[in-house]
Amino acid sequence: MMERVDVLIVGAGSAGLSAAAETTRHGLATMLVDGRSSAGGQFYARPHADPLEGLPEELLAGIDVERLELRLGTSAWGVFDNRAVGLSRPGASEVIACDALVIATGAMERPQPFPGWDMPGVIAAGGMQLLVKESGVAPIGRVIVAGTGPFLLPVAAQLRVAGADVHDFVEAMPRRRLAGLLPALLRSPDRAREGISYARALRGVRMHFGATIAAAEPGVLALSSGERLPWDVLCIGHGFVPRLDLARLAGLAIAGGAILVDDRLATSRSGVFAAGEVTGVGGAPLAAVEGRLAGLAVAECAGRWTALSEVRFRSARKTRARLLRFARSLWATYGAFPPLALATPETTLCRCEGVTLGDIQASSSFWLPEEGARAAKAMLRCGMGPCQGAMCLAAVTSAVSSRSQADWAEPRVRPPLGTVTVGEIGDTAAAL
Ligand SMILES: Cc1cc2nc3c(=O)[nH]c(=O)nc-3n(C[C@H](O)[C@H](O)[C@H](O)COP(=O)(O)OP(=O)(O)OC[C@H]3O[C@@H](n4cnc5c(N)ncnc54)[C@H](O)[C@@H]3O)c2cc1C
Repeated sequence: MMERVDVLIVGAGSAGLSAAAETTRHGLATMLVDGRSSAGGQFYARPHADPLEGLPEELLAGIDVERLELRLGTSAWGVFDNRAVGLSRPGASEVIACDALVIATGAMERPQPFPGWDMPGVIAAGGMQLLVKESGVAPIGRVIVAGTGPFLLPVAAQLRVAGADVHDFVEAMPRRRLAGLLPALLRSPDRAREGISYARALRGVRMHFGATIAAAEPGVLALSSGERLPWDVLCIGHGFVPRLDLARLAGLAIAGGAILVDDRLATSRSGVFAAGEVTGVGGAPLAAVEGRLAGLAVAECAGRWTALSEVRFRSARKTRARLLRFARSLWATYGAFPPLALATPETTLCRCEGVTLGDIQASSSFWLPEEGARAAKAMLRCGMGPCQGAMCLAAVTSAVSSRSQADWAEPRVRPPLGTVTVGEIGDTAAAL
């Protein structure tokens, strides 16, 4: 017999926790799952502690612990008919049925291939941030933080505060274009204060604006400006992309690289809601307010709507609109960095299978443009390694589509996501 809950929320970051606060407040039995060992998601990552300890009050406010089942170290690997989810924790899998599903799986870093991106010592800026946040230990040696996007500043600042020797900060955006953010910052004093604190933490760091990475060579980073900077640790970030694997598995409509939602955070499938950075990257406060809206919408569908729900809904919707305005001004200023902007024919795109941009270009005349990344996968094994395309999909599809400018086929995702043993699947098959 399959266990059943009123609401299942995947992802216990800002969005998932806030959604759980609303659903439990409205009396719904809620299961909140996350692959990590503590709640809080990317923004509130911290040294391993009690699962909820150290999280801000406003995020936890309203959670009725009697109605919440928090399952950490538990990953969602499959969605069946949008009313049942396969969950796995080490050594055990099960399928949980739910009346409503909320997908709050956040974002991941946008992989940006460039010559040398696969060398030892080159690390994703968010990965380094997570190491520092969870361990409190800073990298040793001369550190460079490079790439583009508003998130690079907090990484560099946090590394410095943790004691790292951050020597250079390289931002692809020219300084004068960043000035375009001023009006938005003046309307968002919290964000302006945050920016000032980062600027203070970075005093003395050499800042390079309007320069992109040409190549990482052993011990030297070559920039498009011709400068050559010595390094021991290179932290690279080019923004984030929504994490859509579970959404694709659930067959949700996706637009502009994010889950398509209405103003109640309902997706294209009935009973399935999405909140936070899976609907578009916009920061932790926006993710939290979207979580509240999704939780309220679930309560409405479950017939638990009250006059107070209406008040909360209106206020959350107003806050979302304000935060979205700020997020949009960031998107407009930074724009999306093209996936192949820094790659040369010799650059490895699919790191798991060792496929270069040149390999794809040389063989792309053997398939039809509309076959896109799927053909590259079948012929060259791109995306068939352990990361299952998470690192290379954007670059490979871009390499394929640039030949014809044709739209490429959306990748198909099949369960299980991540690693699940045959034994575990066997145990759960009976429940399905
Ligand atoms: C690498 C990185 C670094 C960031 N650093 C900053 C920063 O310094 N400053 C800043 O303002 N913003 C930062 N952000 C943005 C900020 O973290 C987000 O705005 C905020 O955390 C979004 O909240 P969320 O709930 O949507 O997603 P998240 O907080 O990312 O939470 C999503 C959760 O879903 C879980 N999950 C995903 N898939 C599954 C699955 N299949 N099964 C179970 N669990 C799953 C993840 O483990 C994660 O805990 C960063 C984002 C990333 C990705």
